[in-house]
Amino acid sequence: MPLPKDSSMRVRFAPSPTGHLHLGGARTALFNFLLARHYGGTLVLRIEDTDRERSTEESIAAILEGMGWLDLSWDEGPFYQTERLDRYRELASVLLKNGHAYRCDCPPDLLESKRAEAMKQGLPPRYDGRCRERSVSPDRPHVLRFRTPDREPIVFDDLIRGPLSFDSAVLDDLIIIRTDGVPTYNFAVVVDDVDMKITHVIRGDDHINNTPRQIPIFRALGAPLPDFAHLPMIYGPDRTRLSKRHGATSVMAYREMGFLPQALVNYLVRLGWSHKDQEIFSREELIQYFDLDHVGSSPSVFNPEKLLWLNAHYIKDTPGVDLVPLVKEALPPLPDPLPQASDPAHWTRVIDELKGRSKTVKDLAQFALPFLDRSRSIDPEARKKVLTPANSSVLEDLSLSFMALDDWTGESLRNVFAQVGESLHLKLGELAQPVRVAITGKTVSPGIFEVLLLAGREIVLARMEEALRLSREPFNEDETHA
Ligand code: GLU
Repeated sequence: MPLPKDSSMRVRFAPSPTGHLHLGGARTALFNFLLARHYGGTLVLRIEDTDRERSTEESIAAILEGMGWLDLSWDEGPFYQTERLDRYRELASVLLKNGHAYRCDCPPDLLESKRAEAMKQGLPPRYDGRCRERSVSPDRPHVLRFRTPDREPIVFDDLIRGPLSFDSAVLDDLIIIRTDGVPTYNFAVVVDDVDMKITHVIRGDDHINNTPRQIPIFRALGAPLPDFAHLPMIYGPDRTRLSKRHGATSVMAYREMGFLPQALVNYLVRLGWSHKDQEIFSREELIQYFDLDHVGSSPSVFNPEKLLWLNAHYIKDTPGVDLVPLVKEALPPLPDPLPQASDPAHWTRVIDELKGRSKTVKDLAQFALPFLDRSRSIDPEARKKVLTPANSSVLEDLSLSFMALDDWTGESLRNVFAQVGESLHLKLGELAQPVRVAITGKTVSPGIFEVLLLAGREIVLARMEEALRLSREPFNEDETHA
């Protein structure tokens, strides 16, 4: 059933800052963002940094950077759990007072031996409740445990998976405050979700086993239960959980590889969600169409080919002028720039011409380089196949005609090709290929006349001369391995 349009919806993205923003986390952030925007609600950003050993400042910065790059804005926060420690202790003492929590001073070695014993008997290693009625003195070192209600089935209606039921008998009396006064993960999450008035908890289904632990805590705090939605896992192509083994998982690594954020967002949204057969969505469409009804419950498989396809689409669709800064960033400082490279309009022209055949910004930068810098390299395979003695007369005749031209226009160049083609009995394609390799160093490029116009006469002549020389020299096999 579609959720009503409801501006009181409050969702949150709650990353633990123990690494980069990875694809799964970014998808969770995106789904929360889209729901908040779709329903006119509020997105809260909460940094779950109570695990002090694993949480780092760099990771916080990396997560914020990743969200910024994907253009996922939030409305409240970031709130840091480490700044709310007093609040967790305050609510823990409320639970202690009303009997929902108790002190436990079981020494670690006792717990360990009981755990080992349970495992030996094939039983789940739960805490046996030894301290439940012992009234441990507050002066002794102790933890606080939650008194999980006995034999009360925990049922909730997951917005994606439907009704789920857990037997509370399998749940532990979990620790909510450690000996050092720091709350445990499940407790801090509930206190925050209550205080931040979260109405919908949308998170990865790696948390599905935490939900039955958290629900009794909401109840004990006398707070209304939020709705829960657990997003299906993301698998790698081999159908195991997506991990580093499958390639880059950090969002910013995709930026490094030359992906556009719009492409990644469009890719991530389709990991689990669909809208009819549509594959490409503008941000406005996503906000307009997104809801949880069309999030499936089966795992999605990460498909790098499809991501590349989307990226190629977005590159093609982006005005050249907007791609210029990205291409600049993807290139090393130009060692020997062409005179045209000082003209911003030249960059835009080159990029507009080349973007249609580039799958990544990196590809685009490599395609653009021969039109920006003198130092273009020739792909050894292209040289071996195309810059051959058989093609030297093509290069020579065209060079001579280029030199004789009064003007350097599409029309004059077309005439040159027509005349030389006639005299050598060759078709345009046969003439174009050696020229293409000479100018760009590659066997694929835009149309040959665009290439010649973008490069300009001076560069064309210099490169044709070099190519002519190479075509006459024997080819050294070692170069293919260079
Ligand atoms: N901090 C948890 C994580 O990064 C998410 C907790 C939650 O969404 O409830 O996986």
